[in-house]
Amino acid sequence: MILQGDTVAVRQILRMGNPLLRQRSRELSKEEVLSDWFSQLIVDMTDSMRATSGVGIAAPQIGELVQVSVIEFNNKNERYPEMGNQGLKIFVNPVIKVTNPKEQTFWEGCLSVPDLRGPVARPKGISVEYLDERAEPQSLEAENFLATVLQHEFDHLYGTLYIDRIKDLTKLSFIEEYKQFWSPQALHEEIED
Ligand code: ZN
Repeated sequence: MILQGDTVAVRQILRMGNPLLRQRSRELSKEEVLSDWFSQLIVDMTDSMRATSGVGIAAPQIGELVQVSVIEFNNKNERYPEMGNQGLKIFVNPVIKVTNPKEQTFWEGCLSVPDLRGPVARPKGISVEYLDERAEPQSLEAENFLATVLQHEFDHLYGTLYIDRIKDLTKLSFIEEYKQFWSPQALHEEIED
């Protein structure tokens, strides 16, 4: 399904249960990254991500089994104001190294697992080697929340969903219940009572 607007081409986001989300995606060659097909893929991914207020999306989530993830934090996203305006970042063939193995837990959600949130512990610091949209090699150091977001997006390229990494499934929550019982605000209010 493609919903065509004047300037956007929002593609349907695959949801949990679709076997394509569980496949390993293939790497792209430099020639492929420099092709028109790749430019269109990035447009489709970013349009689909923005239409659903996500901060990241991976190509398999729109049914393309290639190693491409994009993230975008901007001031319009009210859920993550602390991330500021970092703009769009494109990662091709990303390879992660853990630089700080100390685990941190964030409550994660996923466009492919709608309406749920769950706590996932992941390493606090990583470095990433990847190709950018001009097929140039790049590297990035990431810590804290950004490290979690990147690990989540790169997991998609290997068929892993965040729910696979939840150690205590009794906490997996619908968003309403997450807000009521588990959000930092709810916990804070509980402590104050
Ligand atoms: Zn996801």
